[in-house]
Amino acid sequence: EEEIPEDHPRYQDLLTRHRIENGVEKGITHLQGMHAEGRGSAFDYLLGEETIPSADAAERAGAAHLLLADRPVLSINGNVAALVPGEMVDLADATDADLEINLFNRTPERMQAIADHLSEHGAEDVRGLEADARIPNLDHERAKVDEDGIYSADVVLVPLEDGDRAEALAEMGKTEIVVDLNPLSRSPRVADVPIVDNIIRAVPNVTDHARELADADEETLQEIVAEFDREQALEAAEERIRDGF
Ligand code: ATP
Ligand code: MG
Repeated sequence: EEEIPEDHPRYQDLLTRHRIENGVEKGITHLQGMHAEGRGSAFDYLLGEETIPSADAAERAGAAHLLLADRPVLSINGNVAALVPGEMVDLADATDADLEINLFNRTPERMQAIADHLSEHGAEDVRGLEADARIPNLDHERAKVDEDGIYSADVVLVPLEDGDRAEALAEMGKTEIVVDLNPLSRSPRVADVPIVDNIIRAVPNVTDHARELADADEETLQEIVAEFDREQALEAAEERIRDGF
């Protein structure tokens, strides 16, 4: 990361790519994570590599949902662990949420490598290793979750989630917050709160909103949730990508 000059015009994009490469080298990120990163990078380029106003509104609504939740859980995959490990720990701290590792390509080695990586970034308790419950309507490996984690959560943040899992979680009746740069992808389309933004910007911004709303009463939080319009957020992102700015 030291090698990239900060004044490089594509600094953030290069940094992101390096983090994924390091993640692959460390056994945290699956090779397929590099393809996901490439797709995300293209959409971010088209969005202008900034948090658009509709994404900020989604991030605020996401923060309100997490603060209102009885059992909020933040889901972590190989790309999330490589890109924003400390930021996810901060968000968990700000919203009193649990962290749960959830992998598309699950192996015991990668699960452990990610758990260790998160611990190095200050996580005290990481779920996902028990895998003592299953999400209905998904094939075996991808259905594995912790009974006292994602399985019983009422609000879940699932960044860069695969479409099938996002759909299955929505069918379980959970309030789902998805971070995904592609507004046409199925995951943001099934989300209660689609955040179309780079996870590198999105997670710290959700945390900032959560800290700012920490003392807000329940009515205020409910209002923020009610005022958020998911269709409008998806449309605004698509419009920005198609028409520019
Ligand atoms: P599918 O249609 O099956 O969902 P996909 O193209 O969405 O396929 P996936 O690997 O399932 O591919 O999902 C990766 C998703 O994550 C993509 O939509 C991509 O835009 C998004 N993504 C990648 N990197 C980031 C990032 N840094 N921040 C936010 N979203 C990202
Ligand atoms: Mg997708």
